[in-house]
Amino acid sequence: MTTREYWVEKAAGLNFRRQAFINGRFVDALSGKKFENINPATAKVLTQVAECDEADVNEAVKAARAAFEAGHWASMHPAKRGRILMKLADLVRENREELALLETLDMGKPISDAMAIDIPGCARCLHWYGEAADKLMDEIAPTDPSALAMVTREPLGVIGIVVPWNFPLLMACWKIGPALAAGNSIVIKPAEQSPLSVLRLAELAQEAGVPDGVFNVVPGFGETAGRALGLHMDVDMIAFTGSTEVGKYFMQYAGQSNLKRVSLECGGKSPHIVMGDCPDLDAAASAAAGAIFFNQGEVCTAGSRLLLDRAIKDEFMDKLMTAAGKQVVGDPLDPATTLGALVEEKHLERVLGYIDRAREEGAELKLGGTRPADREGYFVDPTIFDNVTPDMTVAREEIFGPVLSVMTFEGEEEAVRIANDTIYGLAAGIWCRDISRAHRMARAVRAGTVWVNCWDPTGDMTIPFGGFKQSGFGRDKSLHALEKYTDLKTTWVQLS
Ligand code: NAD
Repeated sequence: MTTREYWVEKAAGLNFRRQAFINGRFVDALSGKKFENINPATAKVLTQVAECDEADVNEAVKAARAAFEAGHWASMHPAKRGRILMKLADLVRENREELALLETLDMGKPISDAMAIDIPGCARCLHWYGEAADKLMDEIAPTDPSALAMVTREPLGVIGIVVPWNFPLLMACWKIGPALAAGNSIVIKPAEQSPLSVLRLAELAQEAGVPDGVFNVVPGFGETAGRALGLHMDVDMIAFTGSTEVGKYFMQYAGQSNLKRVSLECGGKSPHIVMGDCPDLDAAASAAAGAIFFNQGEVCTAGSRLLLDRAIKDEFMDKLMTAAGKQVVGDPLDPATTLGALVEEKHLERVLGYIDRAREEGAELKLGGTRPADREGYFVDPTIFDNVTPDMTVAREEIFGPVLSVMTFEGEEEAVRIANDTIYGLAAGIWCRDISRAHRMARAVRAGTVWVNCWDPTGDMTIPFGGFKQSGFGRDKSLHALEKYTDLKTTWVQLS
């Protein structure tokens, strides 16, 4: 068992990568500008990072295009590309403590989560797509014998990857793995709050054997570097994870530029439904607490709307309060901490604003709603509002913090109606013993993933992940994601 002191000492010895990574080299932004990288647990400056803008994005895209055209990666035998990705997965495992620390220092998540979930998830993802690289088969169309019509999958070219700060490396790996496995070159724009881990990954990719120019990173702000990537005439696709609002910008950028493909993993307001015949109330209560408090609630699939059958409401609330009481808010470098700091001051204010608004609109505060008194950084206590109605702001908008809205319903139909009363459709959970009803409800709830009698139990790579409605379109994970980074080509050969 590691201690806080172990991690504090290790953090003190870290060597941050602070420059952009373009064409296999760390370089300053052409403007020479840098931006401050803040540790949200202490509110102190961690380091200064190169602030890329349009000029740097142009350089990165040029390098990515040249590498793609040269074919060192795109035309490499897929099995060899796969071996390099698996080597990268091994390097991630070997450097897991450093990478986990970068995540924790950069965005405030508990080190125990970074070590147990984020970094192993990255290695698993890269390894999985490494294994998959030579498993994507082409087709021969069923023509008559006078022709041979081949349908082949080809890489798209240059992929722009724009990611958020809540799982900085994992969200990037969900795109890097399939994009590289398919033979593309990539330019990644990490979130301005959390650029450090992806910069280190770029270096590890080079060590694993990814050719120069194939893997580029341009740290910087959304309105400058992100926008430049979205509007670039030589980027073939944008793979985006982030808010629905910014996802809509990327569709506009595509329309204003070269009609690049866009895949969007956006926000959520996921319903977590507990029916009267829930098979295990203790397990459901513990899952309900985990679903909203894991990663400080900064999770796109957070179970932020808890829908309780009136018949079990009182009993369930007692169990939920017990489960929530086990959360430990504290220094993210302490392995005992389960709830770390929110990513930045602006976000802290946003979350506190939602808490105030919930009170004003008549929701009943059952837990939290406060900031821990003894902390400098951007912490919020686990918060639960009861007697929330579906029209309240706290029930409608994505808060992206540790704030749970509890609502009640009577019967299956009302549960589904409330669950679907949202612009989002990313995930949902249903606790229910009656398997026929569980199937019926799972079909009726509009969400990309529905968990029955559990909440997000594994990091399984075999299942597609993504949303319905304004949670976006396109899928990460699974072989479907691999297809997304390719295009179909038909070659018709007339034989006679
Ligand atoms: P965000 O949309 O503010 O930023 C995401 C990325 O877009 C960042 O890299 C940012 O710099 C960039 N960006 C911001 N404004 C831009 C602009 N005008 N033009 C181009 N790029 C711009 O999101 P965030 O605050 O970093 O992350 C939280 C959001 O991400 C939440 O809505 C959450 O639900 C979502 N998210 C979704 C998933 C999913 O898989 N569906 C996973 C994680 C997070």
